[in-house]
Amino acid sequence: MIKRKRYIFTGIVQGVGFRPFIHRVAKEHSLSGFVQNRSDGVVVEVEGSVEALDDFIREVISRPPPLADISRFSQMEVDVLQDDEFRIITSRKGDRGEVHIAPDIAVCDECLHELFSPPDRRYLYPFINCTNCGPRLTIIRGVPYDRENTSMACFPLCPECEREYENPHDRRFHAEPTACPVCGPSLSFLDSEGNVVSTKNPVREAKDALLRGDVIAVKGLGGYHLAVDATDDIAVIRLRNRKYREAKPLAIMVKDVEHASMIAHVGQKEKDLLLSRERPIVLAKKKENTKISPHVAPGMAHFGIMLPYTPLHHMLMDERFFALVMTSANHKDEPICIANREAVSRLRGIADFFLVHNRDILVRCDDSIAMIAAGKSRVLRRSRGLSPKPVVLGESYPEILALGPQIKSTVCIVKKDCAFLSPHIGDMETPQARDFFHESVSVLQTISECAPKVIACDLHPGYYSSRVSRGMSNHIIIPVQHHHAHVVSCMAENALSGKVIGLAMDGTGYGTDGQVWGGEFLVADEREFERAGHIRYYLLPGGEAAIREPWRIAVSLLQEAYGGAWREVAERLDLIPEKRHYEIFDRVMKLKINSPYASSLGRIFDAVAAIMGLRRHVSFEGQAAMELEAIAVKDTDVDLPFGLFEKEGLLLLDLIPSIRELTEAFLRRVPAEEIAFAFHQTLRRAFIVATETLREKTGLHRVVLSGGCFQNRVLLEGCVMDLEDAGFEVYSHSLVPTNDGGISLGQAVCAGARIKRGV
Ligand SMILES: [Zn+2]
Ligand SMILES: [Zn+2]
Ligand SMILES: [Zn+2]
Repeated sequence: MIKRKRYIFTGIVQGVGFRPFIHRVAKEHSLSGFVQNRSDGVVVEVEGSVEALDDFIREVISRPPPLADISRFSQMEVDVLQDDEFRIITSRKGDRGEVHIAPDIAVCDECLHELFSPPDRRYLYPFINCTNCGPRLTIIRGVPYDRENTSMACFPLCPECEREYENPHDRRFHAEPTACPVCGPSLSFLDSEGNVVSTKNPVREAKDALLRGDVIAVKGLGGYHLAVDATDDIAVIRLRNRKYREAKPLAIMVKDVEHASMIAHVGQKEKDLLLSRERPIVLAKKKENTKISPHVAPGMAHFGIMLPYTPLHHMLMDERFFALVMTSANHKDEPICIANREAVSRLRGIADFFLVHNRDILVRCDDSIAMIAAGKSRVLRRSRGLSPKPVVLGESYPEILALGPQIKSTVCIVKKDCAFLSPHIGDMETPQARDFFHESVSVLQTISECAPKVIACDLHPGYYSSRVSRGMSNHIIIPVQHHHAHVVSCMAENALSGKVIGLAMDGTGYGTDGQVWGGEFLVADEREFERAGHIRYYLLPGGEAAIREPWRIAVSLLQEAYGGAWREVAERLDLIPEKRHYEIFDRVMKLKINSPYASSLGRIFDAVAAIMGLRRHVSFEGQAAMELEAIAVKDTDVDLPFGLFEKEGLLLLDLIPSIRELTEAFLRRVPAEEIAFAFHQTLRRAFIVATETLREKTGLHRVVLSGGCFQNRVLLEGCVMDLEDAGFEVYSHSLVPTNDGGISLGQAVCAGARIKRGV
């Protein structure tokens, strides 16, 4: 009995060798029919005996190609057509898209083997790739994902590549970015002015320059890196000075996990993460006395380490380098450079040479960052290798575009049960970053093939994205409170629904009372929240300026702790840069000039670091807190008290008693490591008491942890452990960042839930 069935597969099923796989399985089971890429998925029609059809679908579902991710498939019986063979037919553009574009994937072992095999025709060809690896998102112009819709369109295949491309049994069958030295892109080496340096071997030129201590701009998958020898102090300092990057840690690339293990504590989970095909930068605890320059990550507990992920990286990382600094090539607050001319002009004065190629990068994509904490991998920046793979939600929502926050920004489109997050955009402080924001919205609309009419944004009226939303007059605009968005983003990636207790411990976000929130206990569902408690307000003197100058926050907290005696304490701590600040401060605080109330935990971390003399000025957000975490290693008897009380139904956590006690301890010369440790312990105790109080009040036992402070591994691991011990179901971030990089997801799902239930 002969039957014919039609299947439509959706998910990541294009550009990942899905059609050749289907072709092979169909042939193995002697089925005729066809497979075709369409905007609504991969359509397969197969005809044959009932048993063969059953075997076919069983095999497709159970053993798809390595990079494929079938999110859904439909099947129906259709009329028998008596085809005599199984064919792969040309793509056509449908009306509505259900096809997901794959992220960029690290070069696979087979390609690597060919890269370093002299007889291979792609020997030392830095653009080698196949269906199982190579660029995807970063070379895409439109859908469906076919060569003519990528930046490879201008490289017609040579006859030999064409043969591989057409052969269903070849690893490069329909590998859209496939190329070889005859037909594909090529490298060149440019001087600091962008003039081509005449050479047969650009890679060797680059390596020689690196050995001399030069700064080299290297064009990668999603943008340019600036590279220097990571063991060369002078080169690292030169790069920092030229980039005006005082202290922010620089990522490094090492050849393999063995090299990574020489500089950092790399457990099995870190190894797996380093070697994963997404190849993120992995934060791993530093070892003492390594070869790496101390200027790479000063004051930090971790190195950000990654392994080579493009063929070019593998060619660069030879035995002459122990490690290279590989940091995004950009100016402060500007997005990563992608175009050759743009790079030469924007990196003037920074790069001594450029190692470039002529395959255009169409979508900017920074390196992703991840770490292992509480036994799980946690993404801290979701970009190359991960974006635009969707986060699958627990339910379907109408189409929503969420515009994200102001710093560490991403944008997100929700379509049905899939949330597509853009690569990391960064801080929206410069015109270039704002252009990148608009670029990211349009990329997401292209790849998700929708242009949502519902827009979610932050409640903060001054954010750039909020201003953009006000200009979108024919759209429905749904503002979402920042910390509610944090909690919902964590719920969304855990497919949670219904009421939870949410701990949003964060830098700063705009509250419904117009004050600066950031230490929030919420009782929330996807749609709405109640502020059940928060860290007791303190004044944030000078508003935004306090973020860069944590000593100001310290003074504010000392005033709370010591009243009129604060000056004497501040003097003993040598906290205030200039004498005249005392008078100014008194006035500012009394009259509350430009000094909003804040409940931010992140800013308290900053203040504690300032009190302990670790840091009075910061050069990047979170620096003081990261340094405090780095030294929180020494167990101690120091016990810091805190207050927890209820006022008008609101739970208030008072950390001023801790501030007073830790100041006393510091003045008694208790080691900073002990004080930092005690401060973390105190927060753990305070959070558990507060959460238990809320459980008694609400009967809820699911706790969601979100906000930038949970990037702090000591705090996250402690809280997860304590809460689980106390019988809570604890949910934290893994797939999307706990910092503001996850906000757009929370905004989108919150807006979706409101629309769905008719708000
Ligand atoms: Zn490959
Ligand atoms: Zn070729
Ligand atoms: Zn936040």
